Amino acid sequence: MDAYSPYLLEAICYAAEQHKYQRRKGFAKIPYINHPLKVARLIYKFKPHVEESILLAAILHDTIEDTDTTAEILEKKFGAEVAQLVLEVTDDKTLDEPSRKQKQIDKAPFLSDGAKIIKIADKICNMLDLLHYPIKWTDERKIRYMKWSKDVVIHCKGICPDLDKEFDHTLEKAKALLNTQIE
Ligand code: ZN
Repeated sequence: MDAYSPYLLEAICYAAEQHKYQRRKGFAKIPYINHPLKVARLIYKFKPHVEESILLAAILHDTIEDTDTTAEILEKKFGAEVAQLVLEVTDDKTLDEPSRKQKQIDKAPFLSDGAKIIKIADKICNMLDLLHYPIKWTDERKIRYMKWSKDVVIHCKGICPDLDKEFDHTLEKAKALLNTQIE
């Protein structure tokens, strides 16, 4: 059997340490680290031969945006490819929320394949959390989030058809649960 890559556990521990005081939005107060781990697992589920750099970047995808990590630190620890992927899926926090959301849509067509895969898996996991955990959001706000996710993901499809299908399936589930059309 091949030796396990030391980077995978290193990335999990590093992300866990970076996010250790953070919780997901909502009442359930789920530890933040559950989210990037689920994103990585979802990618692996639908693309078992995915490059390790993409899995590592999925585990680390929110560390630059939400913790004091920098691209330089990630590059040193996990290599330039991983750092670049995380940067690609990092929002510019100097912008206000509507501009950040628009920028995600505008940037999506130009992301690398790996970043597109992470984006789709991230949106699926966020949608599932919104649907299945209590959160103080109105249904209208949830629907707005689903529509926006669709607008981002539409530019990210075509690399992993099974993951694309899973997104569509999740959107269908959201429509049914929120009893609405999301066009
Ligand atoms: Zn995320």
